[in-house]
Amino acid sequence: MRAVDIIIKKRDGQELTTSEISFFIQGFTRGEIPDYQASAWAMAVLLNGMTDRETSDLTIAMAHSGDTLNLEDIAPLIVDKHSTGGVGDKTSLVVTPVAASCDVRIGKMSGRGLGFTGGTLDKLESIPGFRSDLSEDEFRTQLKEIGLVLTGQTRELAPADGKLYALRDVTGTVPSFPLIASSVMSKKLAGGANAIVLDVKTGLGAFMQTYEDALHLSKMMVRIGKDAGRKMIAVISDMNQPLGHAVGNAIELKEAIATLKGDMSGDFGEHCLTIASHMIYIGEKASSLGEARQMAQKSIQDGSALKKFKQFVEAQNGDVSYVEDPDRLPRARLIEVVASPQSGYLTQIHARKIGEAAVTLGAGRARKGERVDPSVGFEIYHKVGDYVEEGQPLFAVHASDEQKLQAAREQVLEAHRWSLQACDRLPLFYGNVDE
Ligand code: URA
Repeated sequence: MRAVDIIIKKRDGQELTTSEISFFIQGFTRGEIPDYQASAWAMAVLLNGMTDRETSDLTIAMAHSGDTLNLEDIAPLIVDKHSTGGVGDKTSLVVTPVAASCDVRIGKMSGRGLGFTGGTLDKLESIPGFRSDLSEDEFRTQLKEIGLVLTGQTRELAPADGKLYALRDVTGTVPSFPLIASSVMSKKLAGGANAIVLDVKTGLGAFMQTYEDALHLSKMMVRIGKDAGRKMIAVISDMNQPLGHAVGNAIELKEAIATLKGDMSGDFGEHCLTIASHMIYIGEKASSLGEARQMAQKSIQDGSALKKFKQFVEAQNGDVSYVEDPDRLPRARLIEVVASPQSGYLTQIHARKIGEAAVTLGAGRARKGERVDPSVGFEIYHKVGDYVEEGQPLFAVHASDEQKLQAAREQVLEAHRWSLQACDRLPLFYGNVDE
């Protein structure tokens, strides 16, 4: 077999066999197939697509390109939750302890933020001492003992995806359904969970800008997971405006802790209740989604979710006093409240523009490996559909220096749009996919 023939076949719109896909991914992972051939192949896939069978084969080949975790000895059902990425999306910080306090075992390997989207690990690392580099043994022990672990990759999971994603990023081949679906699902399959809740974002601040695209991607990922024997559900949720009010790292962690302490008001609380319900239900701890929701609500009200979160932070070496008193978390040197320059109904709070402004501040990273500043970010006070008066506080910028503050302030102002006509609120969810 030759890599060039596989590229030509895909270029000409033909279907690749299982062994051709496996040959290509194995050769690429070992460095025998060079980046320029993998890039050409990725472009051929982007232009000509893949059948369902090819996409499943690609996912399995990437999942097996490195280590795979087998967690069956720990519990019959380990649940994972994955978001396709958004702005202000701190959901994992709340729903994982909520579900774990309802006896669902959660073993999750999270990522760091890249570009305009934030990452769970960056947020957790605002807590002094918090470790996200657990070994596999530590991962297993913690999963067994407290039922909740959230860390970076313990071993080299799906290395083919890491290599391919880096190439796709610089060759214009990210927005391909089979490549995105196989990228996400290869890491999930290698991570060892056997029930997976996918939170697929759609809107201005998401990869999938339209509902139709989000639905298509959701169906693909659910089918891949089911073909691999996993229990699957995808929830399609809004990412036109930031989720909740906080955007940044420590600032988002504070909002998550406030939610765990009982503040369930607003879109973020509702979003968390819905996702947590799915995790509890798919984890077989409730006989209906309604019952799962009641369990999730109770775990917040009676403090058991917060207790689980503290237990988890402590197990990963984090200083729990920062959870008890979140005002101690890193705080930016400069905080400026920006007033609304006009009166009107807010028709747009552009999530992507706000995510990009967070990168300007240093809360996110433009390139992989860059450090993030835990203290900076935004408080976005309003939601689409709210009426604001001229001069009323619109948002606050938390910045480390004056220049960044000015630039980010302009970007966030630019993200807001007003109208004299009343405008509908945005839905939180657009639908579920379970088959
Ligand atoms: N997230 C991933 O993990 N992979 C993609 O291709 C896109 C988003």
